[in-house]
Amino acid sequence: MPYLVLLGAPGSGKGTQASVLAKALGVPHVASGDLLRAHVAQQTELGRMAHQYMTRGELVPDDVTIAMVMERLDQPDARQGAVLDGFPRTVVQAEALDARLAERGAGVDRALLLVVPDDELVRRLAGRWLCRQCGASYHEVSNPPRQPGRCDRCGGPLFQRDDDTPTVVRKRLAVFREQTLPLLDYYRRQGKLVEVDGVGEIAQVREALLAAALGTPA
Ligand code: AMP
Repeated sequence: MPYLVLLGAPGSGKGTQASVLAKALGVPHVASGDLLRAHVAQQTELGRMAHQYMTRGELVPDDVTIAMVMERLDQPDARQGAVLDGFPRTVVQAEALDARLAERGAGVDRALLLVVPDDELVRRLAGRWLCRQCGASYHEVSNPPRQPGRCDRCGGPLFQRDDDTPTVVRKRLAVFREQTLPLLDYYRRQGKLVEVDGVGEIAQVREALLAAALGTPA
């Protein structure tokens, strides 16, 4: 079973697609942002520290995120494979991930990059609503829930992330360009990077991602 890394700017559809991909492949969806938001909600020490960075749109320090994600990957359900969403975001994180997977005779099988133009990213984030219960993602114009404020899938309450405001979104996009884009070269050099067009229907993007995840990299 594979370890897949899903890369993409904020708003590229990483979360939605990672969850779909993980289900299709029978591996857990490990999202560093979700793990961090759970810490924030539970007001743990880690959560209080991380929250300051998250509300500014900056990255939480590497040592903290690495320890948190490694702990998740050590759990039994993630010992054979996982879809990683939002991690790694820096080369240091990617190296730590490689080292940990190497210890279990595994490695990152593919890094899939969801490509979406900037103006589309901003549009998507501005109208984004998420389910507090199951994490499903909606857009008030292009993918509205049947009943405003309620999740179609589980009936849970919908909310908007406090880092989806225009100023913080601009910062998150800048951080992505500066700190996460170098990762593309890291995976490209290893022949693991596959670029997938992230614009289009959710189902269409899912098919392209599945083909990229299971096929031979270009
Ligand atoms: P996301 O849900 O992936 O958009 O992440 C939300 C926020 O959590 C980011 O803007 C960062 O502040 C923080 N975060 C998530 N994953 C990481 C990571 N791998 N490294 C550092 N910070 C992260």
